[in-house]
Amino acid sequence: MKQDLGTYIEVAAALPVFGTYTYRLPEALRSRANTGHRVLVPFGRRRVTGYILGPAAGTRPDAVKDVLDLLDAQALFPENLIPFFRWVADYYLHPLGEVIRGALPSGLNLYEYNLLAVDEAACPLPGDGQLSPLERDILDCLRQGACRLKDLQSHLDRPVPGALLQAMVKCGWVVRRKTLRGGRTRPKKARLVRRVDALPEGVRITPQRRKILDLLDREVELPLRTLQNAVPGAAAIVRTMARRGLVALAETNVYRDPFGEPILPDRPPELTPEQQTALEAIDAARRQGFAAILLDGVTGSGKTEIYLQAAAATLGRGQSVLVLVPEIALISQTERRFRARFGERVAVLHSGLSTGERLDQWQRIRNREAPIVIGARSAIFAPLEGIGLIVVDEEHDGAYKQETGLRYNARDLATVRARMNACPVIMGSATPSVQSYFNHQQGKFLRIRLSRRVQAKTLPEVAVLDLRPIQNERGVRKYLSAELIAAIGETLERGEQSLIFLNRRGYASYPICSACSATLKCRHCSISLTYHQRANAYRCHYCGYSRSARATCPDCGADKIWHYGLGTEKLEEFLQRFFPTARVARLDRDTTRRKHGLLAVLKKLQAGDIDILIGTQMVAKGHDYPNITLVGVVCADSTLNFPDFRAGERTFQLLAQVAGRAGRGERPGRVILQTYTPDHFIIAAARRQNYARFYADEIKFRRTLGYPPYNRMIQLLITGPDAARTAEAARRLGRAAQTDLQRLNAQGARFSLLGPVEAALHRMAGRYRWQVLLRGPSARGLNRFARQLLYGGGVRYERQGIKVSIDVDPLFMM
Ligand code: ADP
Ligand code: ZN
Repeated sequence: MKQDLGTYIEVAAALPVFGTYTYRLPEALRSRANTGHRVLVPFGRRRVTGYILGPAAGTRPDAVKDVLDLLDAQALFPENLIPFFRWVADYYLHPLGEVIRGALPSGLNLYEYNLLAVDEAACPLPGDGQLSPLERDILDCLRQGACRLKDLQSHLDRPVPGALLQAMVKCGWVVRRKTLRGGRTRPKKARLVRRVDALPEGVRITPQRRKILDLLDREVELPLRTLQNAVPGAAAIVRTMARRGLVALAETNVYRDPFGEPILPDRPPELTPEQQTALEAIDAARRQGFAAILLDGVTGSGKTEIYLQAAAATLGRGQSVLVLVPEIALISQTERRFRARFGERVAVLHSGLSTGERLDQWQRIRNREAPIVIGARSAIFAPLEGIGLIVVDEEHDGAYKQETGLRYNARDLATVRARMNACPVIMGSATPSVQSYFNHQQGKFLRIRLSRRVQAKTLPEVAVLDLRPIQNERGVRKYLSAELIAAIGETLERGEQSLIFLNRRGYASYPICSACSATLKCRHCSISLTYHQRANAYRCHYCGYSRSARATCPDCGADKIWHYGLGTEKLEEFLQRFFPTARVARLDRDTTRRKHGLLAVLKKLQAGDIDILIGTQMVAKGHDYPNITLVGVVCADSTLNFPDFRAGERTFQLLAQVAGRAGRGERPGRVILQTYTPDHFIIAAARRQNYARFYADEIKFRRTLGYPPYNRMIQLLITGPDAARTAEAARRLGRAAQTDLQRLNAQGARFSLLGPVEAALHRMAGRYRWQVLLRGPSARGLNRFARQLLYGGGVRYERQGIKVSIDVDPLFMM
């Protein structure tokens, strides 16, 4: 719909600046410009991309500049997203233009390229006498027409230095124009063969034709591929049959799951009474408009089926549906099941797509061709209109938190977007986050409980084994109890699969010099290196720094290094040696670095070609393999000991999820949980799979220490290349915070300040890291405090390479 914007428009620039700006829209652009379009605008001495937010409100400053160009033919996002973008920018203290830029698919940015041009009307070109020969050649070439740098260089047959071009752009002799190139990926087509209502008379029915007709008789229509499997040469036979009118041919779009199997349509099953009640409760909530619903149900209790049916009802009302899932779950079940139920109406957004595919999906959503969007966290910004339902599956999952740039939490934003759309948001989990459960107890979230597994499968039995008695054993033996080894052996004998969970990749995590006992540390981070046997190198898991394993001790020069600490590589080697005939595989970031690595392993697991799978937390999530009957957790403490107040919560969730991998099929499952702290309340709760008990203890601890959910927090992370300067900047910021805080608390606020302290990981990728933590009971008050502190006092903390990043509601506090 074309809206008349008027002469003055409000623009958010894609720059780290706060506030929006007013520009004048030249007459020539007025008929085409609309909210949601990108424009090229002058900003200071530069030209930058901006986003049209709508007509400018209020009085106009005198020196309003003109919009230079319109960059899109079609709006990139609907108007209803603008209040959402503004909310995000405000809440996370992030520049609005950058919020929008980050929300748009990166494919879009890649699809845009710079065209170089001359604009003699805007800037008369200097006479030849003022130009170097290369400059003259460049301008001569560009006078013939705009082109890309690549083409310019090939015309001139020589490289054009970036600095030179930059200088020419600065003078205004050359302008850069961003150009969008659209690309469409076509969906794969499958050929279908259909039964005809009445067979024509007098056509001979050969035995092969008979066979095909019989198959169609039962199914009405079948993919040609299916017929080809049943009748050799079916393609040619069907073609002649179609010519004679015995069958009809058609084409349809097909979707394939990541394993390459076509996804066949399914029909909704009849709901269990518990599911029925849940769906009715959701519908009742919906009638009130906005509602935040915590769908709390054990794995296999039929949550996904509820999403599907609630989504179907929403589509039935002519509204659209947004489904968020953790990245890794996309390649497993959820996308597949939505596809099976809704086919063409589903658009997907996640990082596994190529840039062209992502742009294509974005445009399908934008054009209202796909009323269901399913995607990872960034899909919270999907350009849907008329949203009637938002689903957040596995709401407790840390993957919803973005940890760089705009540090948002998609789970929290789902609630915000649902409120703006006056629709329900369903957050599902078997292990709800403490935050969401607390919200339920405060009466903010409606909790719907699913207590039973659909097919009445029992939850696995969990045994806790104390690692302390074997901690003085040698090598891998001190990490593997006899019971766990025996259990793996028994599982092997029964022809079933074991999953062994170890949260540390690589071979050995503590390389120590045999002569001087120094640990081998990363050159750029305050962390010890991990030895990787296959790569024969030491690697840093934080910055990627790598050094050859042939290297000697950096402290004393000795050449013998002990490899202490257990990683997945070492465990794999040990188990393979111990069970020589077993098929052992490993699933971690090292084995799945290449694109299809993860799928290849999962495919083998599914086909029964793996007996023992060793993996990091990648194995914990969402996969459903019925033949896994043993899950071993090598060391339940490794996440528990993280210096982060949420370590307990995360460990409980992880243990519950890993344990949930066992016994998904007909046979019962068994879980062995090894630990040095068998009496820890988290371990005890995990053993009994008792969420209520975990929550009761955890919430007490949070209350005592004033942590979320009793308080809100904003973390300011101060980083810089120089140790002393970074520390000084952190202290300066800390002092300013202290002063502000005393003033505000004197007026009745209840803020507190933690830090400045060196971060637990006090150096990463060559940057020193300090934290200042602001804490207070209300998000709004805290937001004002932080805003005043960082932008109100006129002090700039970001100097000399120092950066202050703002993390509102921080989740990982390393
Ligand atoms: P969750 O999302 O809670 O793990 P799912 O929705 O995946 O649970 O359900 C677990 C299994 O039970 C799936 O295989 C699903 O197809 C099946 N299922 C769910 N609801 C029903 C139902 N009402 N009738 C029959 N099977 C169902
Ligand atoms: Zn490093």
